[in-house]
Amino acid sequence: MLEFILLHAHNPGPMTGDGNHTFLVAGDAGRAVLIDAGQGREPHLGLLADGLHRLGSRLDCVLVTHAHPDHATGATAIARAHPGVRFLKFPWPGEDERFGVAWQPLGEGDRIHVGSDALSVLHTPGHSPDHLAFWHEASRTLFSGDLVIAGGSVMIHSTRGGNLAEYLASLERIRALAPARLLPAHGPAIEDPIEVLTHYIEHRLAREVQVLDALRAGRRTVQAVAESIYDGLDPALLPAALETVRAHLDKLRLEGRAIVDADRWSVV
Ligand SMILES: [Zn+2]
Repeated sequence: MLEFILLHAHNPGPMTGDGNHTFLVAGDAGRAVLIDAGQGREPHLGLLADGLHRLGSRLDCVLVTHAHPDHATGATAIARAHPGVRFLKFPWPGEDERFGVAWQPLGEGDRIHVGSDALSVLHTPGHSPDHLAFWHEASRTLFSGDLVIAGGSVMIHSTRGGNLAEYLASLERIRALAPARLLPAHGPAIEDPIEVLTHYIEHRLAREVQVLDALRAGRRTVQAVAESIYDGLDPALLPAALETVRAHLDKLRLEGRAIVDADRWSVV
């Protein structure tokens, strides 16, 4: 049986909310793994040391859900504090190099043994191409990284490796697992995963209908579509709205339902 301890990464900010949640997962035989590296803040490193001490465990490896800085930057400091620890993630060439550790590749179907128990690795791209989630079958718990945030929404940066079609497929896949609990990297645990995942999927599909309606009404640019959907939008939120619309348009283009020519979009 595995024991999970939430370790707060102590990195609050505009992109991280009240800061990231990382999880120390301990099994029998004094073995433990850490899910996500945080940003190397001193209080996080202290919580990690205390957690390992309390559990009487040694840190075997750090599993990183994806290469966004709030999840991966702490690898350098953890490597310094815990020599010999291995760092594993799904490869994202061009991004992984900046974190100063020698990553070992992790992918779909891999199993991470923690004492006599194990976590299964699921490749769940969309928020980023390298996104992984970690599934503990016995407790039907999913360490879900940035797939969902309770009461919030997840950004799909289509200009930085995000892909909305893949993201929706990942949400569908997670829902089909019938998890009992999601442990996201931001915000509280999600104890009603099916409802939350269904809401997420329906919300995105409703947004897609709005994007198609805007195109049919003659809106041709990302900005024009965004302005028609987000009426009276706070200018500070415009970049996020543009990213969201761009992600929807790219999905429609890949599906052959919209075309773009010289940055002007139309329905097929
Ligand atoms: Zn992220």
